[in-house]
Amino acid sequence: MALRGGIDLGGTKIESVVVDGDGAVVGQARHPTPHDGGPPAVINALAGGLREAAKAAGVETAELTGVGVGSPGEIDDGTVAHARNLPDWDDTFPLASALSEQVGAPVKVANDVGAAVDAEAKLGAGKDYGSFLGVWWGTGVGGAVVIGGERWLGRGAAGEIGHTVVKIGGATCECGRRGCLEAYAGRGAMERKARKAVAGGTKTDLFDLMEKHGRQRLTSGIWGRALDRNDKLAEKLIHRAVVALGAGIGSVVNLLDVEAVVIGGGLGTRFGQPYVEKIEQQMMKHLFVPERPPAVLPAALGDLGGAIGASLLVG
Ligand SMILES: [Zn+2]
Repeated sequence: MALRGGIDLGGTKIESVVVDGDGAVVGQARHPTPHDGGPPAVINALAGGLREAAKAAGVETAELTGVGVGSPGEIDDGTVAHARNLPDWDDTFPLASALSEQVGAPVKVANDVGAAVDAEAKLGAGKDYGSFLGVWWGTGVGGAVVIGGERWLGRGAAGEIGHTVVKIGGATCECGRRGCLEAYAGRGAMERKARKAVAGGTKTDLFDLMEKHGRQRLTSGIWGRALDRNDKLAEKLIHRAVVALGAGIGSVVNLLDVEAVVIGGGLGTRFGQPYVEKIEQQMMKHLFVPERPPAVLPAALGDLGGAIGASLLVG
């Protein structure tokens, strides 16, 4: 039986799976993404996670027919550069060859959100639609567009809904520009805003919860717990994110008139249907043709969608 590996390399966690010929998950492992040590530390963590997933499936990693990795940053022929959500990863690093050496199987690398959206198109929430927009709401805000059943890549950089402008001269984004959707809705930007508010005297349970649960960052789970407690700052920042997402998504729908919008990513998956509906309500305010809105749906493959999608790279 031909088994394949798939890894979703995120800014917060590394999700690894081993899948069989039908795409069914037969082994999995989840680990936090290293905070320091640069690319070598990340490669070690990827190899460790894959070994654990392979062990759960009863095989060695060298027996896998191939391993796909969904990675942030700029991907070119197995190398990754400018992965801002990974530790000290700005220069070009040969992820595929370095990981292949450790696990003894061929490795292919693709954009993380693209891999997850491909999986939703083939197996998940997008499979009944010829065209849809995927919005991956997590550490950053990623996106991908499927048109005629195929992902629209442009000249290689298409789909970056996180860097569409929702406010002229607005908040500063990680990319160095102003007013980007990600500067309002990215979990990284939300955490920076929360830290500023606390420094200015605002009360919140966010950072107590973070420490109590042994986290170094405000993860999607921590934001969720703060909302469960009706934490005012968390509610305010999540609402601000939802409003910005509605504006960004509405603009894309006006331009492309896609049949559906699929919301995934760490926050999207954690918050699920109720927040998908809130985003939909905000989007509706901006639609030029509101009588024929797209379906707005949560991603169907959940936390493992990115890793399953990555495994399709070597299918
Ligand atoms: Zn930006």
